[in-house]
Amino acid sequence: TTIPERLARNRYVTDEEESHIHVDQEIARRTGTGKAIVAICPAKVYAEEADGTISVEYAACSECGACLAIAAPGALTWRYPRGGMGIQLRQG
Ligand code: SF4
Repeated sequence: TTIPERLARNRYVTDEEESHIHVDQEIARRTGTGKAIVAICPAKVYAEEADGTISVEYAACSECGACLAIAAPGALTWRYPRGGMGIQLRQG
């Protein structure tokens, strides 16, 4: 592989690790947040799998904030990539 190709791959991997939305599956299920965020996300980031877990295609997220606004406490955790501070926000 060429160096540009390696750099591109590194960048991609880094971004994948940094832009992070975590769904607490148990809380999401118990509170109905799972179904709610599937319904409300305009970018279709969330999907309900056959076993009821919520999958997250976070690369499609436009950071509109709708899912955070309706999520029950603890159901969603975000870590923003900028600044490398690992800031976590919990909404609810
Ligand atoms: Fe979807 Fe908006 Fe939540 Fe991103 S912030 S996952 S676009 S609802």
